[in-house]
Amino acid sequence: MVPISFEFYPPKTPEQHAQLDKTVARLKAHAPEYVSVTFGAGGSTLSHTPETIQKLRAGGFDAAPHITCMGGSREEIRGLLKLYRALGARRLVALRGDLPSGMVSAGEFRYADELVRFVREETGDHFHIEVAAYPEMHPQARDAQVDLRNFVGKVRAGADGAITQYFYNADAYFRFVDDVRRQGLDIPIVPGIMPIANFSQIRRFSELCGAEIPRWIAQRMQAFGDDTESVRAFGAEVVAQLCRRLLDGGAPSLHFYTLNLSKPTLNVLANLR
Ligand code: FAD
Repeated sequence: MVPISFEFYPPKTPEQHAQLDKTVARLKAHAPEYVSVTFGAGGSTLSHTPETIQKLRAGGFDAAPHITCMGGSREEIRGLLKLYRALGARRLVALRGDLPSGMVSAGEFRYADELVRFVREETGDHFHIEVAAYPEMHPQARDAQVDLRNFVGKVRAGADGAITQYFYNADAYFRFVDDVRRQGLDIPIVPGIMPIANFSQIRRFSELCGAEIPRWIAQRMQAFGDDTESVRAFGAEVVAQLCRRLLDGGAPSLHFYTLNLSKPTLNVLANLR
């Protein structure tokens, strides 16, 4: 089986903790290469990601925290890096993050390349650093060429690998990988996979992050209406086919956005086998 990784968000409430425990227990059998934990904007979430990393490491996982430019000042990010080293983490996902609506400024770093450079200055080669990639372009980028140039910049700042925003169009991924290779970069670019279990939720996410849902998928999903069983079955089939095409075309592994649920990811993996 191809290497896979799972992404979780840090739980806050007792219900969310129970949900993540259940999900992790169910996904563990798939022996992920590593799991990652997102980092939300805003001070109150500062401790949730480290706590979740600690718990996942205690459960035997190689757990990678996400860090973002919104994580605070240089000093605060320095402290976070120290904490993650002490927790035994060897892998990070370094991102700009998004400003919560209403906030006008965040930390001292503006873009992910500055954060990657800082992590390298502070910790040398200790961390394997993943950055984000956008086969369908980052929604705020002026154009695809500029976005590619910025991506190359953050890899040259010291990233070891990239995980893509999710997409449902394999050609966008292949083209992006070709473009990056033409820039002389050979880092692994791992497709981020978003299973479809709730179509209206995916449509909402996609509008925000700029992922295109192909018309033929949207039309079938709409036709299923409230028939959630059909939505799930069709979603798992479509996403598994996408995964198969990506792997056949050379994708090095798959990173699943689990949203802390096990079933949608397990259904894709079952179809993939
Ligand atoms: P950047 O690489 O900094 O790019 C952001 C924009 O700025 C792009 O349009 C780019 O073209 C432009 N740009 C980049 N560098 C420069 C530069 N030097 N000069 C001028 N323009 C530049 N968000 C969270 O808040 N927490 C998470 O845990 C999280 N995890 C994620 C995991 C993955 C795998 C992915 C794909 C996204 C994740 N996100 C997360 C969302 C991410 O933070 C947003 O997509 C954000 O808008 C961009 O982050 P980035 O690291 O790609 O930014």
